[in-house]
Amino acid sequence: MITLIERANSFTDRIAIKSDSQNYTYNQLLEQSTSVAAHLLQDQKDLNQARIAFLVPASFSYAAVQWGVWKAGGIAVPLCEKHPLPSIQYVLEDTKATTVIYTEAFEELLSPLFNNTTIQFLNYADIAPKKSELPKISLDRSALILYTSGTTGLPKGVVTTHANIEAQITALTTSWEWNKDDHVLNVLPLHHVHGIINMLSCALWSGACCQFLPKFNPKAIFDIFLKDEVNVFMAVPTIYFKLITYYNELPPSEKTAISQHLSRFRLMVSGSAALPVSVLEEWKEISGHILLERYGMTEMGMAISNPYNGIRRPGHIGQPLHGVSIRLADENDQAVNEGEPGEIQIKGPNVFKEYWEKPDATAESFTKDGWFKSGDIAIYDQDSYQILGRNSVDIIKSGGYKISALEIEEVLRTHPQIKDCGVVGIPDLEWGEIIGASIILKHGELSTDELTKWIQEKLPAYKTPRTYIFQEDLPRNVMGKVTKNEIKKMFTS
Ligand code: ATP
Ligand code: MG
Repeated sequence: MITLIERANSFTDRIAIKSDSQNYTYNQLLEQSTSVAAHLLQDQKDLNQARIAFLVPASFSYAAVQWGVWKAGGIAVPLCEKHPLPSIQYVLEDTKATTVIYTEAFEELLSPLFNNTTIQFLNYADIAPKKSELPKISLDRSALILYTSGTTGLPKGVVTTHANIEAQITALTTSWEWNKDDHVLNVLPLHHVHGIINMLSCALWSGACCQFLPKFNPKAIFDIFLKDEVNVFMAVPTIYFKLITYYNELPPSEKTAISQHLSRFRLMVSGSAALPVSVLEEWKEISGHILLERYGMTEMGMAISNPYNGIRRPGHIGQPLHGVSIRLADENDQAVNEGEPGEIQIKGPNVFKEYWEKPDATAESFTKDGWFKSGDIAIYDQDSYQILGRNSVDIIKSGGYKISALEIEEVLRTHPQIKDCGVVGIPDLEWGEIIGASIILKHGELSTDELTKWIQEKLPAYKTPRTYIFQEDLPRNVMGKVTKNEIKKMFTS
């Protein structure tokens, strides 16, 4: 049986979810998810891995639908509300979803698809309280199809089983010491492991409370922090950046109050993209916390994490989580010598089953001896992993060197006028690639000459950008990740 759901039976009247200013207990979640399952099953005994997509807000209804699909034996396919209709359509067609459950808020967005006769559209409000006999679900069944963030290409459907999800949850609940008194605030969209596994599922596994704020809003987040209920917070670096910017504008008395409340938190996590050292340091000033940075992917949940207890080093991602094996490998999938850069490869019960209906892509992403190839390059330095970037876009191959874009970005961010930046390799006949940097300024002006002179004192010549563009903002996807291929295009077009 699905352990995550079984465990909820022992948490009865505890608050599982807080959303829309309402509290929902574990019993309510169990009941409502059974009603969803009963509605989906109708005359069948088991959905037998049918793909049930859903577009519902990040709230109690999300959890009820996801669990309902699982209880009925289906594969859950959460859709992203921030995606335009063609992306939603792509997911529905790719997964061959039989049903889409939606709430009224999304009716207008989805309505152009309602004439599709192969898909049943089900309004969440029409699901009446109902009981039904439920199928027995073995842990090796597929449970979830999540699409990768599409940072480097077209998103791929990642299939995980109930056993994979359980391993992903237990790796985190054990390593980060989740307990039933925890209360996490989730401000991220729920179509991604960060929200679904790291926050919602870890909270529900532990008998804790997951609170949702459906729309990102710094003021609302700080107001919630001031209520003293939340003690765990997780976000992507851009969100911390926005919170810092908002905080810096507040009057001193409000700053003091917020900082006092933040200092009482148990855990604050950053991940999904590299955490700039400047953000880590400024957040430490504000909250007293050194953000716990971790590394993971849709394909395996979380894999490497800084310690819950112990030293967290800026720019480092720490050690493999409980139950996860990691190695760094060269282009021939052979382990590199200690201290040398290599691709992060992963083995463990947390690693996904397959890319949905892409057997070739699945086969290519594993080594002959069964390690999953992440495509991310790291080094092992002083008892901890350090990410150098994605092989495809962050490792710049120039004049025989392999240069980490992330390292150059860290240096650029120390310039007093630079707010943010994105470094890429630009194809070049002579050098293979030359380094280009997209720069976002805080204020004023900065000439390319000034910048060149400044960086030449900080980095060796082969690591200095040859060309710059100045922009209002960096291109990002809905997870807030910088889409470097778009920056590259700006240099080449
Ligand atoms: P796509 O695979 O479609 O290009 P994506 O890789 O961004 O998108 P996700 O699965 O959401 O999709 O993200 C996983 C990636 O995020 C990792 O492979 C890694 O490059 C990056 N990442 C996650 N955590 C960190 C971190 N702490 N530091 C640096 N990069 C990170
Ligand atoms: Mg990826």
